[in-house]
Amino acid sequence: TDMQLSKVVTEVLPGFTQKVTEKQIEIVASIDDSICLRADRDKIKQILINLLANAINYTPQYGKVRIIAIEKEDMVQIKISDTGIGIPEDVAHRIFERFYRVDKARSRDTGGTGLGLAIVKHITELHGGNVSVESKLNEGSTFTVSLPKNNKL
Ligand code: ATP
Ligand code: MG
Repeated sequence: TDMQLSKVVTEVLPGFTQKVTEKQIEIVASIDDSICLRADRDKIKQILINLLANAINYTPQYGKVRIIAIEKEDMVQIKISDTGIGIPEDVAHRIFERFYRVDKARSRDTGGTGLGLAIVKHITELHGGNVSVESKLNEGSTFTVSLPKNNKL
């Protein structure tokens, strides 16, 4: 069914309040209320949750996380960027693989399994979209999810 992207984001953000408060991370969501998608609501939530969890986990104290959305013809681009630890260029292409984690020691304390991005990629492609990352080590990362506004799901 049709849904307002800004509303879906508003629904997932409270789940991060505790961690965000602990780390004093600033979250800014700026999504125009006119941006709508026809997609599986729970799956879009899952994409947002997995990307936001990463942005928050892999960003040190006092960092910043931004969520924006852009309409491009029949697509909606969702960008989640952080001022976190970043991803080394030589392994950036691997992070969407199941169980792949950049640095097991570094990410151990976050207790993840390495499935979050594989799930994001799977759901995105199921919706006829794609996901990509731009990152600079020690400066931050931006994940871009492009989804068709209308799809058969
Ligand atoms: P899970 O999501 O299953 O709890 P995870 O976060 O380790 O565990 P993914 O979400 O698939 O797994 O991410 C894979 C790896 O990519 C992470 O372990 C981390 O090394 C790197 N990564 C993902 N997002 C970011 C980010 N925003 N900044 C820096 N590194 C990231
Ligand atoms: Mg994750």
